[in-house]
Amino acid sequence: PSPLMAGKRGLILGVANNRSIAWGIARAARAHGAEVAFTYQGDALKKRVEPLAAEIGAHVVGHCDVTVPETIDAVFAEVERLWGGLDFLVHAIAFSDKDELTGRYIDTTEENFSKSLLISCYSLTAVAQRAEKLMTNGGAILTMTYYGAEKWMPHYNVMGVAKAALEASVRYLAADLGPQNIRVNAISAGPIKTLAASGIGDFRYILKWNEYNAPLRRTVTPEEVGDTGVYLLSDLSRGVTGEVHHVDAGYHVVGMKNPDAPDI
Ligand code: NAD
Repeated sequence: PSPLMAGKRGLILGVANNRSIAWGIARAARAHGAEVAFTYQGDALKKRVEPLAAEIGAHVVGHCDVTVPETIDAVFAEVERLWGGLDFLVHAIAFSDKDELTGRYIDTTEENFSKSLLISCYSLTAVAQRAEKLMTNGGAILTMTYYGAEKWMPHYNVMGVAKAALEASVRYLAADLGPQNIRVNAISAGPIKTLAASGIGDFRYILKWNEYNAPLRRTVTPEEVGDTGVYLLSDLSRGVTGEVHHVDAGYHVVGMKNPDAPDI
């Protein structure tokens, strides 16, 4: 195996099942020699996460709901007990009430706005605060974003606003943590059929649209996101921080519909 990530220990938040982007990143990091640990959100997901962890020899450090700060503290305490330090952190978490991932952004409620921003944006800062203390030899933090942060997308609504704030957080955290050689980057993934994505209105249409119009004429896989994750989490990207790296088959460069695309 390639020694790219040998000796690196990483905490990965956001594995829900075998379609999760976090799972794609975890497998790629393990394949390149990293040690990884998972959290899970609640008992229902624990039953899914534990067998996946066993499959690749990952640790499971406990329940973490980012709306409950004590659970964040608890999993970081467990990481410290396990490894005594941390080299990388993957944040692959987002949430909005499904009812607001359809229709108009203007109808967002204050309650769902606050909840979505807390879980999908602030939580990166919350985990970075804890990670900073353990990353005494530098480190790499990676979060997941989407093009809906940059441009209007149908149904993405409050999540687009949350991702815009998340991408700005990446830049501010990169500046704060850079002097300690802790890098902070994001992958902007093209649409992938996952549990979280199934909450977004017309998701199949969005997948087809990307397939017909992206330069590579297809969508991307969690494996492809995972491989780019290895680049951003390993020393290959040691000169890169504050970056939002698109893994979207090139969709973000397109300014107009492909005239040869079939109707959807
Ligand atoms: P997923 O459903 O597999 O993962 C979402 C994760 O968020 C789950 O593990 C869930 O437990 C976790 N989560 C939600 N609320 C939480 C909370 N309060 N505390 C702790 N964890 C919580 O879906 P995914 O598509 O792999 O999503 C991972 C990330 O990738 C998200 O940030 C998502 O916005 C982003 N992303 C997804 C796509 C896509 O098309 N699937 C595209 C670009 C970016």
